[in-house]
This record gives sequence, structure tokens and C-alpha cells, in this order.
Amino acid sequence: MKFVDEFRDPDMAKVILERIHTLVDEIPQAQDRPLQIMEVCGGHTHSIFRYGLEELLPDKIELVHGPGCPVCVLPMGRVDDCVAIAEHPDVIFTTFGDAMRVPGSKKSLQQAKAEGCDIRMVYSPMDALLLARKHPDKKVVFFGLGFETTMPSTALTLKQAEKEGINNFYLFCNHITIIPTIKAILDSPDMYIDGFLGPGHVSMVIGQAPYEFISAQYQRPLIISGFEPLDVLQSLLMVLEQLKAGEARIENQYKRIVPDGGNMQALKAVSDVFELREFFEWRGLGSIDHSGVRIRDAYAQYDAERAFALPNLKIADPKSCQCGEVLKGVIKPWQCKVFGKQCTPETPMGALMVSTEGACSAYYSYGKIDARNIA
Ligand code: SF4
Repeated sequence: MKFVDEFRDPDMAKVILERIHTLVDEIPQAQDRPLQIMEVCGGHTHSIFRYGLEELLPDKIELVHGPGCPVCVLPMGRVDDCVAIAEHPDVIFTTFGDAMRVPGSKKSLQQAKAEGCDIRMVYSPMDALLLARKHPDKKVVFFGLGFETTMPSTALTLKQAEKEGINNFYLFCNHITIIPTIKAILDSPDMYIDGFLGPGHVSMVIGQAPYEFISAQYQRPLIISGFEPLDVLQSLLMVLEQLKAGEARIENQYKRIVPDGGNMQALKAVSDVFELREFFEWRGLGSIDHSGVRIRDAYAQYDAERAFALPNLKIADPKSCQCGEVLKGVIKPWQCKVFGKQCTPETPMGALMVSTEGACSAYYSYGKIDARNIA
């Protein structure tokens, strides 16, 4: 296949779906309860709703929308820290656009911008470094957010800042790591996941090996999956084939992008600049050991957490907000009490309604709304 249309071919989708429907009837555990298959990445969640894939699957398969949208798992306290930095009069605060509207306990970055803070949307950390070069009289802070997918570009930007001797550039590091998070999900007593669709973009950087414990220790299959509809369907089929055969292996469906060994240069840059934190707080999932990174001492001069006094408070979500239960797959988005009422993409109460990769936003945007719930 060469062109994107080929990954959206309805005839091919029908063939895979027929196979899925047949196979699921041959899997013993699917006859007692629906198989729970988690798509780890928000990009998959978006694709599943955009192309209506969930409706095409048999009732014996339940998709659980995982925590792989970094904006969605950002706790309120971290947004408050961003606002506190941005309120310094000599700061230009830079961020990717999807973090602008994530609610903090008092305001979002967008509201802080409307109140006069100099907050700018950028498309890469290098854009933020460019601003630092242009405004030597200002402190330019980049809000580093995301999994291993975006970590390398942030690491390389700090290296570039060091090379050029730029000393008015800072990183507020909120990068997180996927492996401890999947382990926390597998250890959670609330959840039973039969198999995983693994994140394609993260895997492009980390490769296949870090997932091996999922099959070795937990006996669950994980298929590293692409994002087009045929990728997702084929990956689901690969999970089912393993379940039918009583196997648990890590497989790579997304070979056209993901090298089995990952990207060694990117991993080297990440390990030069970052080290694991003891723990990191996730919205809805609580504190997870070694699930985030911080800046190593060698790059301390660029660390916004050391350069600015931050509130660093743990803020509980509003009581009516059920993001945590949605993130763990305990409820579907439309079952949240405020879905489509107080919480909409225009007036988000929770981060899952902000990012296009958030499950609530995807449900809302693609019409997966239960009218009885929002009447
Ligand atoms: S509807 Fe809003 S508050 Fe409820 S889970 Fe979704 S994002 Fe969170």
C-alpha cells in the first residue's frame, strides 16, 4: 500500500470485519463476557470514532479508551503551575495549542492570555527557542508535554540552546512515559484488559522490546498499531488471533513506520537530557512510579521548576467530573454526569473534552451522544 486511501478501503475493511466476527465466536472467554481491548493511544481513539469502527465490531468486543492522550492526563495542579509561570511579567510562555484550554483550578492558559499574560502557541520547541533568540530581554518558557513521541524534539532543543549559549530559555517539563502507565493499568484491581493496541508514534521512538513484559509477565497480547481504519481493524484481528490460539506476544502491525529497535539517536538525546522522576501525578490514575521525566542536573539552568517558584499543589478534580473513571474504562464518556451538559468542547470541565484525542471530545464530535443522558 502506498497511498492513504488504500488504508481506508471499505471493501478491505469488510473482509477484515467478517474475519473478526467469525473469530470472536471461536474465543472461549468471549462467550462469557465481552473481550476488553484497550487502545492505549488517543490517536487510535480519535480514529475509532471518526470512522465509526466501534459500531462495526461485534458486541463481544468492548474497546476501552486508554490514557495515551498526554493533554487528557494532565492534572489541574500542573495547569495552575503553568499559569503561575505565565503570570510573571518578564515571561513569554509557549505551548502546543491543545494545552491552551485545559482547565486549571482557577483558569486555563487561554483565560490567562485573555487577562494579559504573554502566552503564545507554538508548533515545536524550536519555535520557542526562536522566540528566546528574538527576545533576549524576556524569559521564554516552553511547556514540554507528551510521551516519548515528543520527548526527543524537546531534548534536542535543550541541546541546541546549550550549543548556542542561550540563557533565557526554560523548559517546564511534563513529559511522561508509557511503559509504567501500562503496567499500572495491568496491576489495577478495577480493570481486566484482554489485549492492547499499542501506541504507534511512541513505539517509533522506543521500539518493540520495552513491551515484552506485557506478554512475559501478564500473558496479554499487544499489537503496535497504525492509525488508519484498516490499521486499527487489522490490529484488532491480530489480537483476536492470539487470543484464539491462547498466545500472548508483542507484534508490530505498523512496520511501515515503527522499526523494531526504535530510534537510537532519539533515545540517546532523551537519555542525555532527562532522567526518571520517582513518581508523577496523572489525572484520574493518581501517582504512578517512574512515569515522568525531569531535567538532568547537567541541564539545570534550563529547568523552569528550578527557576520559578511554583505552587506545585495537588488539586482534586471537581466532584461531578468523572475523567478518572473514563480514563480507566470504568464508564463510557456519555455516562459521565456532566457530559454534553456542563461539559462540552466549548466549555470543557475535564481535559478529555479538550484535546481532539480525548475520548469525551471524540464521542461528542462524532455524534456518540446518548440523547437520554443529556436530555
Ligand atoms: S464529560 Fe467532561 S468531566 Fe465528564 S469525563 Fe468527560 S471530560 Fe471529564
